[in-house]
Formats: sequence, structure tokens, C-alpha cells
Amino acid sequence: MNRQQMLTRVSTRKEPWDMLVIGGGATGMGVAIDAAARGFDVLLLEAKDFGKGTSSRSTKLIHGGVRYLEQGNISLVMEALKERGLLRQNAPHLVHDLAFIVPNYSWWEAPFYGIGMKVYDLLAGKYGFGRSRVLSAEETIARLPNLQTEGLRGGVVYYDGQFDDTRLLIHMAATSADHGGTLINYAPVVEITRDEDGFANGVTFRDEETGATHTAPARVVINATGMFADDVRRMTDPTAQKMIAPSQGIHLVFDRSFLPAESAIMVPHTSDGRVLFAIPWHDHTVVGTTDTPIEQATYEPRPFEEEIQFILDTAAQFLSKPPTRADILSVYVGIRPLVKSDNGDADKTSALSRDHTIHIDSAGLITIVGGKWTTYRHMAEDCVNHAITIGRLDDKACNTRTLKLHGYFENVDLLGNLWVYGSDASGIKALAAGDPALLAPMHPDLTYCAAEVIWAVRQEMARTVEDILARRTRALFLNAKAAIALAPKVAAIMAKELKQDQAWIDNQIAAFSTLAAQYIVPVSDGGTTLE
Ligand SMILES: Cc1cc2nc3c(=O)[nH]c(=O)nc-3n(C[C@H](O)[C@H](O)[C@H](O)COP(=O)(O)OP(=O)(O)OC[C@H]3O[C@@H](n4cnc5c(N)ncnc54)[C@H](O)[C@@H]3O)c2cc1C
Repeated sequence: MNRQQMLTRVSTRKEPWDMLVIGGGATGMGVAIDAAARGFDVLLLEAKDFGKGTSSRSTKLIHGGVRYLEQGNISLVMEALKERGLLRQNAPHLVHDLAFIVPNYSWWEAPFYGIGMKVYDLLAGKYGFGRSRVLSAEETIARLPNLQTEGLRGGVVYYDGQFDDTRLLIHMAATSADHGGTLINYAPVVEITRDEDGFANGVTFRDEETGATHTAPARVVINATGMFADDVRRMTDPTAQKMIAPSQGIHLVFDRSFLPAESAIMVPHTSDGRVLFAIPWHDHTVVGTTDTPIEQATYEPRPFEEEIQFILDTAAQFLSKPPTRADILSVYVGIRPLVKSDNGDADKTSALSRDHTIHIDSAGLITIVGGKWTTYRHMAEDCVNHAITIGRLDDKACNTRTLKLHGYFENVDLLGNLWVYGSDASGIKALAAGDPALLAPMHPDLTYCAAEVIWAVRQEMARTVEDILARRTRALFLNAKAAIALAPKVAAIMAKELKQDQAWIDNQIAAFSTLAAQYIVPVSDGGTTLE
């Protein structure tokens, strides 16, 4: 993928695009794959970098959602379990099984969760992962060495999927590009253009790197801007009522010693009635999440002090060596683009539906919001079916159920630290053919190497140090201080690739360091306090 070539395609195109997608998160990228794979000419425009919004900030689970089972949303669970199976089938390099253990401290928990997980297995049908079962206390401790053993009666193990959200997103972008899709980052849409009947017929967007504006005519325009969907809806209908009820969730990241295991912990009932996960991820431990209604969506939301304390307190109940503030390597915050209920505002966003919604306004603008990372493929299929009707396009059948994603590779254990790239790993290794030092870790606490930086610039449209350290690699999410230490090295490699000067390097380091400082939790006092 090359940004300049993508821009040239836009400026030289005479015909309207079949479909134009606004937003390069999981939702928009899913649509860009589906449309391109059906043979439509699709253009996707992303305001910042691919995945800058919510899609880089998930719990990293491809799951049916045990919680929704308890809420009785069986159809959502069944759909998500099916999508989970399809995703592992189509992207085995990026989605793998993970064992989750529900620790039991009361007599009733083993039968209760044991039966619940059997239902979960059953709903997955032929898309099932491993089979759930009840564990003895000894088996539970053997699988989770840092678990609080006082009062432990045993556990229930079940299986779900785990992934790296932005690595999947970049491979989705590449899949769309492989099928002829055109995707541009740092290209905010500033206006939706309309024909004489008031029907949306394209957009105006800005190239953030040059400041130039471009127009892109299209037969149908799709708004996949997540938490910002209402802003884009107001481009065609300034009076549009809000659809989105934003809610934020935070995760704390610690080193692996807090979960020195191959299994995750699932706490089914926290003090606020939600679930909490502690998950092994890229040799670290991710613990989350929270569900806090907020007024305004922003790109870099801050954690509330209460959220940090809540996660530390809950973790302390379940871990024999509990993490402290000083152990937090990174805190990241994401905003759920939840769709408001028909009853007006919900006080408790955790009760709002995780189903997706497709809305079409009188200008024919299609807005797709809600859903989950796990269900992006199904959401995209639904959206493109609507887009075909609105854009009066030829009916072409969806083929993403069996479409292998870019980099498809079955036995990723063979790829060492580069496993997340799947078959692209060989391309990264080839970059270091004459200089093996390019494959050496750049920081003692992280596995990332210089060849990955070069690859991301040349093949994955990385434009800034933040793109590399936050979304092509996951350094910022794993260890914010280590990421800051890496910034000068990464900036120097990028400047050479992008033919940038020292002033660019200095700006990039300064901008990234300021941003990354927000991912560090001060030991004495932390984020903002809830009003
Ligand atoms: C804390 C948390 C944990 C979660 N964990 C999971 C999980 O484990 N598993 C799971 O399945 N789901 C999970 N989810 C849900 C999942 O992450 C979201 O449903 C999904 O990422 C939403 O993707 P999106 O593309 O709709 O939104 P986004 O990722 O926010 O993408 C929208 C994009 O639109 C762009 N944009 C906005 N305005 C414009 C414009 N004018 N022009 C161009 N582009 C624009 C933005 O820059 C942004 O990149 C979680 C969500 C949260 C908040």
C-alpha cells in the first residue's frame, strides 16, 4: 500500500466511485473489503491513521460475549460466535484460541458457570473452539499460578478468540487493496456533496499532509465513523438527533509476571456488575475494562482516577501478587460507539445493545454504527447490501465468508517474533538480508525491530512515529516509557525512508512523547476524577 499512489488514483479518476467509505476503523475497513471483494470500486478515507479511533483500543478479544449470554441476547452471541469461527478460519495468523478461566470461590459457581459455558459451546455449533469444563482447585492453580488461592474451590475453563486489533486492521486494509480497494489515511472528509435532488453524490476531503482539498464523486456514501458518526450525519442533515451514546473503557497493562500463564482470567461479576478480563497479550498482561458514560467523544480520552482504582482493586481480589500503580506500564482508553436506546438516554451504557445499526437519511447517506470488532464482517455484508440498493449498483453476492485475509498463514509458530505478519514475515526478513542487525530488538523490553519500521513505511502506509509505535507495532500500548525511548530511533529510520529532515524528526519525537506521556499513570495521583 502506497499513499501517494492511492492519492493519484483519486485525482486521475473520472468516473464516480461505486462506494465511498468515511472512516478507517474496523467497521469502515470491513466495508472496504466486502465492496472490493465483490468487484466494486471503493474508496475509503480516514481522517487520522487507520485504527486511530476505537479500533486500536479493544480488549483484543474475538468473542461471542459471555456477558451478552447472561443478558439473554442469544442472537448476538450466536452471530458473534459464528463470526469468531469465520475469522479464525480466514485469518489464522491473527486470531487464535485462548483459554479463559472463571475462578470459583463459592459452592454454586462451578455448576452455574459450568452450565453457562456449555450453553456457550452449544451456541457456537460447528464454529466451536475448545470445549469448556469444570476444573479442580489444583488444576486451576496449575493453570493460573498467580491466582488468589484463599477460598478457591476450582474453576471453569472455556475458550474464545484473541487477536491484535490494529494488526488485523492493517491486514484488512491490505486485503481490500489486494482486491483493488483504494484507502487513504490522513484524509478527513470535510463535506458531503449533493446533487440537485439533495442526494449525497460524493465528498470533499483534505489531504492533511499538503493541506490540499480534493473532491471524490461516488454513487453511495457510507458513514463508518464510529463515535464521530453524528458529526458526519450532520453534514447532510444539520438537525439530525444524536444516535451515539459514548461510553469509555480503560485497560491497564502490566508485565507478564502478573499472569505468568497461557490462560486468561475472566471475572464474571465485578462490584459494578460487569465482567473483567486479565489476559496474556504480547508477553504482557492486559486487565480491563470499564464502562463509563461520557459526554463528548475525543481521539485521546483520559482515564478517570476511579477507573484506574477500580481495576487495581478488582485485580487485587483475584491475584495473590496484586499489581500496584507503580506496576502499570501503560493505560489505554477507548470509546464505545453505542447506539442510544429508543427509550432515550440510558444511565447505564453497559445495558445498551452491542448490535449494529444501519441508518439511511433522506440524502441517502448510509450510517453504520455499533456492533463489535468480532462482528465486523457480518456488519460489512449487511451494509454493502444496503449500499447496492441506495447506489443502484449491480447486485453482486458477498464472498467474505471464505475470503482469506492478507498474510494468511497457518503455522505462525514458525515465524518467531514476526508471527503477527503471517506470510508478510518473509518480506520483513528479506529487508534484513544484507544487515541482520535490522532484525534485532530495538529495546530490551520489547521485541520490535528496525525492519518492521521500514516495512510499515514502505508497505503499510505508516506516516508518523505514532503510527509505528501505537498501531503498526503495539509498543505504546504495551509499555509507554519504552515506546518514548524508541521514538528517536524510529523517527530517524522513518526520516530516511520518507526523505524528511531533522526538523521533521524533532517534531515527531516531541509530538509522540507528549502523546505517550498520557499513557503513563503517575505513581502518586493519576487521571481525571469523575465529576
Ligand atoms: C474499551 C473497549 C473494549 C472493546 N473490546 C472489544 C473486544 O475485545 N472485542 C470486540 O469484538 N469488540 C470490542 N470493542 C468494540 C470495538 O472495538 C468497536 O466496536 C470497534 O472498534 C468500532 O469500530 P469503528 O470502525 O466503528 O470505529 P472507530 O475505530 O472509532 O473508527 C472510526 C474512524 O472514523 C474516522 N473518522 C471520523 N471522522 C472522520 C471524517 N470526517 N473523515 C474521515 N474519517 C473520519 C476516525 O478517525 C476513526 O478512525 C471494544 C470497545 C471498547 C471501547
